[in-house]
Amino acid sequence: MYETVIGLEVHFELATKTKLFCGCENRFAASPNTLCCPTCLGLPGSLPVLNKRAVEYALMAGLALNCGISKRIVFDRKNYFYPDMPNGYQVSQFYCPLCLNGKLTFFHNGKTKTVGIREIHLEDDAGKLIHGDGVTKIDYNRAGVPLIEVVTDPDMNSAEETVAFLEALRLTMLYLGVSDCKMQEGSMRVDVNLSVHKIGEPLGTRTETKNLNSFKAVAHAINCEEKRQREIIENGGAVDQETRRFDDLKGVSYVMRSKEQAEDYRFFPDSNLPAVSVEKSLIDEIKLSLPELPETKKRLYISDFGLSDTDAEILVSDKCVAEFFEKTAAFCGNRREAANRIIRDVMGEINLRQISLSESCLTPEKLGRIIALCENGEVSRKISREIMSVAFGENIDIDRYVDENGLSQITDPDIIKSAVEKVILDNPKAVADFKNGKKQVFGNLVGLTMKELCGRGEPKIINKIVEEMLKMS
Ligand SMILES: [Zn+2]
Repeated sequence: MYETVIGLEVHFELATKTKLFCGCENRFAASPNTLCCPTCLGLPGSLPVLNKRAVEYALMAGLALNCGISKRIVFDRKNYFYPDMPNGYQVSQFYCPLCLNGKLTFFHNGKTKTVGIREIHLEDDAGKLIHGDGVTKIDYNRAGVPLIEVVTDPDMNSAEETVAFLEALRLTMLYLGVSDCKMQEGSMRVDVNLSVHKIGEPLGTRTETKNLNSFKAVAHAINCEEKRQREIIENGGAVDQETRRFDDLKGVSYVMRSKEQAEDYRFFPDSNLPAVSVEKSLIDEIKLSLPELPETKKRLYISDFGLSDTDAEILVSDKCVAEFFEKTAAFCGNRREAANRIIRDVMGEINLRQISLSESCLTPEKLGRIIALCENGEVSRKISREIMSVAFGENIDIDRYVDENGLSQITDPDIIKSAVEKVILDNPKAVADFKNGKKQVFGNLVGLTMKELCGRGEPKIINKIVEEMLKMS
């Protein structure tokens, strides 16, 4: 029996307005080389100035992931040459990472799982090489963009578990608002460290698969690398410590380089960036400002609100939806019904119309009012759904809309009685069938009465009157 051991290095581009050490704009998809200055181009004589917002974002991430915070911010140079890196070194935190020894606990497959966070450090991003037409061009817009690198302990054992962790981590960053986490744009990138060993034997040699940019690619790369290493071990070979690149289309990975050791980078403190102390008051302030995190919300929804695991998961998977749900529940006073309506009906509208909840005209107040109208018996369930659909697309006043369109539920027994009379007169055969023991006809007669009342009859009263009148006829 083999066991797979997985640890991750996850990079997030921070959603700051400007870069880590200069005032250049931090923005995706601008014309190449339009967001650059002497500092982020590494020109001689330019000096870096640390972006306070980037530090605050990194601290938010660290505190949300239960890390200890370093008392000082110190940067080191990681020296290597690559054309997309104009300084000839990356500014990172090798000796003293900002955040250490945290953890992320998440709910997965009905169980709680905790993954250790070894460290989170701040660093700057490189530019981009653009290959094509036999030439390679360089775009330095991304050079100097602030990154945090989250390094986990090797606490995961399968592709599925790793993806569940990544989803929880991504959602945490989205709730914090520190990164937009768009994997397709490279603002969240994953490196997978993986080794395989026989259970009971020491850990195997690990390989690193770099720059995976979708969860699907992460899962695919893990499954392929697991298989590759097992085959090597089964054939009596030894896995080499190396860095690999994964081709998601072909499902094959290639050696990029044999894994370098830290000394290859000749790390040393960056003399242009003096140490900055992290004040306790700043940490306290950030701690207080942290939003309620998705895993906390999920636990609350399940244990206190009585929602199912799946429903809780759906609601927290988007911060806007979770907030919408909580407000709607507060307005109508029925959490389960608010959850049901949002998951079944509102999400249906979102998918159908391909617009987000914030772009729609529906507000928690309006949905809360619709639910209340239905619960009070003023409109039928079916009609309440139709009103929600209209309110999703148009800015309507719910009560006025119900009045103007005559949608309120009919509860007057006399009106319902005359509708039932008409149905009984028009359907002598159905009535005869019912008398002869064909009890399922009852439902048809109720349905016909509802149709007669344009869907607005109160179902319980209709049922009662149909029953009574059948007995009498
Ligand atoms: Zn710049």
